[in-house]
This record gives sequence, C-alpha cells and structure tokens, in this order.
Amino acid sequence: MAGNITFTMVKPEAVANGHTGAILAKIQEAGFRLVALKKMKLSEERAGIFYEVHNERPFYGELTEYMSSGPIVAMVLEKDNAVADFRVLIGATDPSEAAEGTIRKAFAESKAKNAVHGSDSDENAQIEAGFFFSDLERF
Ligand code: UDP
Ligand code: MG
Repeated sequence: MAGNITFTMVKPEAVANGHTGAILAKIQEAGFRLVALKKMKLSEERAGIFYEVHNERPFYGELTEYMSSGPIVAMVLEKDNAVADFRVLIGATDPSEAAEGTIRKAFAESKAKNAVHGSDSDENAQIEAGFFFSDLERF
C-alpha cells in the first residue's frame, strides 16, 4: 500500500567502510521489513536523474559525483508510517545535528557523506523504488 513503503540507499562511503550489515541490522531492529535489496554502482548520469530535484542547489555536482563514486546498496522497506519513521531512524541530514542512536549519528562522515538516503514523501518513495526495482524484484 502506498503509505507503507520507503526507499533507502546505503551510500558509497558507508558501503566502502563495511557498514552495510550494521545498518541493515538497525533497520530491521526498528521494525522495517525488507521488500527489495541490491548492490550496484550508479553512473554519474543516473545519480543526476535520481537527485534531479536538487539540480539548482550548489552541492548538486558534488552530490552526483559522490553518489557515483562507488557501489551503493539500494533497498525498499515496508512498515506502517514508513517514510516518517525511517527519517527518524536515520536522523538529520548533517550528522552533527543527528540525534543519538540514529544511523547517521553512528555512521555518517559529513553532511555530504551521510551514510544513507531516505525518501521524503510517499509519492517519492514510490518513484524512487520504481527507479531501482521492477515489480519482479519486490516481495
Ligand atoms: N547534501 C549536501 N550538502 C547539503 C545538503 C545536502 O551534500 O548542504 C547532500 C547529502 O548527501 C544529502 C543529499 O544531498 O543527503 C540530499 O539532500 P536533502 O536535503 O534531500 O537531505 P536528506 O533528505 O538526504 O536528509
Ligand atoms: Mg532528501
């Protein structure tokens, strides 16, 4: 159901530093069910399309370069109130402002290299999940 999924990526620095398993454990402990998962590397063009809404912002070039710098782990997650609850679990964009116990507090290196993505609305969760996964890959 539309309101019950969110989309996340473990970002390149967190994958490279071996944090994927610990992040997935936190996600599952928080009650999210894994619907889909894959490890892949985005091209800079594909990263640019994913982050198109930010294309006017000063960090856009850096963001697409960073998000295509190494493999990411993409996931679709299911839970009641998935989008909002997942934003609470990951914490603020800037890890220096992220609450204790959040994924970004534990694993983010900086405001740019902040360990994980989280959808910001039910509509974007559907779009982002569809960007990475076909119906045959979602269970
Ligand atoms: N970002 C950045 N500098 C900023 C704001 C954002 O590098 O000043 C990056 C960061 O990786 C962030 C992503 O751009 O996760 C998308 O920004 P958004 O404001 O949507 O933050 P999020 O929804 O990821 O918390
Ligand atoms: Mg966002």
